[in-house]
Amino acid sequence: MQDCIFCKIIKGEIPADKVFESKKILAFLDINPVNLGHTLVISKTHFSSLEETPDEIASEMMKAAKKIGAVLGEAIGADGFNLGLNNSKEAGQVVEHVHLHVMPRFSGDGLKLWPGKETTAEERKEAAKKIKSQILDRHAQ
Ligand code: AMP
Ligand code: ZN
Repeated sequence: MQDCIFCKIIKGEIPADKVFESKKILAFLDINPVNLGHTLVISKTHFSSLEETPDEIASEMMKAAKKIGAVLGEAIGADGFNLGLNNSKEAGQVVEHVHLHVMPRFSGDGLKLWPGKETTAEERKEAAKKIKSQILDRHAQ
């Protein structure tokens, strides 16, 4: 992908503060972190969304995120971390190259997670039924 900023990082055309690299995965610091140490884990092959990403690559991304998250305490004194993946423009995805955010958290850092919406038990039951049935339809062999 010629205009993809993350593909340019992979090709070495723009700099990045790399923290981990394997055959299929690259991880580097986010240029605009929620906290210092905020890392992006990307596939070295361009896929726009998680749905387009082969399972094998998606699991390599998760394994890398786990590795990084596990050392953030020792490395930078983090007390915990959040994982995030913005999938689609509507979900906040700005860079259309699939990436996992590993966000170090510090006690009292003031960051807030998403707010909860009020729903009824009936609505939740209905939504669960629809999601479950779509999964069964798509993955029925
Ligand atoms: P998203 O909103 O999930 O698409 O997140 C894209 C992330 O990429 C943002 O957190 C940006 O700060 C980060 N970002 C954009 N350009 C660069 C870059 N050149 N190097 C490192 N991080 C970047
Ligand atoms: Zn790309």
